[in-house]
Amino acid sequence: AEKITVGHVHMSGCTGCLVSFADNYEGLLTILDKYADLVYCLTLADVRHIPEMDVALVEGSVCIQDHLAVEEIIETRKNAKIVVALGACACYGNITRFCRGGQQNQPQHESYLPIGDLIDVDVYIPGCAPTPQQIRNVCVMAYLLLKGNDEQKALAGAYLTPLMNLAKAGTEACGCDIMTQVINQGLCMGCGSCAAACPVRAISMEYGKPQIERDLCIKCGACYAQCPRSFFSFDVVNQYEAIMDAIDGAMQP
Ligand code: SF4
Ligand code: SF4
Ligand code: SF4
Repeated sequence: AEKITVGHVHMSGCTGCLVSFADNYEGLLTILDKYADLVYCLTLADVRHIPEMDVALVEGSVCIQDHLAVEEIIETRKNAKIVVALGACACYGNITRFCRGGQQNQPQHESYLPIGDLIDVDVYIPGCAPTPQQIRNVCVMAYLLLKGNDEQKALAGAYLTPLMNLAKAGTEACGCDIMTQVINQGLCMGCGSCAAACPVRAISMEYGKPQIERDLCIKCGACYAQCPRSFFSFDVVNQYEAIMDAIDGAMQP
């Protein structure tokens, strides 16, 4: 079948998400060989106009003092069938929430918004940076959703639905989310995944439960996204093996 077209749209982020995508090594080559044509990626090629594409992977938040950036994200929405917020900055603002402006070269740049505050976003890939595997899985599943047979489309839908629900749930994240939505609901099983996922070590495990230093939290949402009890979906769990088989099958070189 023909490939899908994918673009990487770089807003205000550190390029760590793109590096994580590239960290799929041969997997990245398999994706580009069989499933996706990379039609836009400023880090690799100086193409100024955002083309039409099936999937836009948007990294970084949007500086609202930069009208070119605002136009770029609106253009991305117009030109992409599926907009994916790649990483915590695009999903939740992350560290760019704390920008104060005043940098020598761009003193007026002081306010940054996650892309979901400016456009509709279809899929979230949380994490700072998201894991290579998760970015790869979303790419394969986007391909199967658009080009697969009925069975593959259903599997891709099951895999992507929780990430689509996350995109609908809002643009704010905080370590408090696991407190209010997991621990206080009696759902925490003390696995420590949230602490392991936190990029700034704001979570420590005390007496088997997560303890959050809220002053350290950079609002990335990784803890909530990694928690196996946070957005548990029977659709995905029931089809786990079939989903993994589909991804493994697709990634055979
Ligand atoms: Fe960089 Fe993390 Fe933002 Fe990705 S989410 S652009 S890795 S700071
Ligand atoms: Fe991110 Fe850590 Fe804050 Fe959770 S506690 S949102 S992982 S910085
Ligand atoms: Fe509890 Fe979820 Fe953290 Fe595991 S990841 S310790 S279940 S809050």
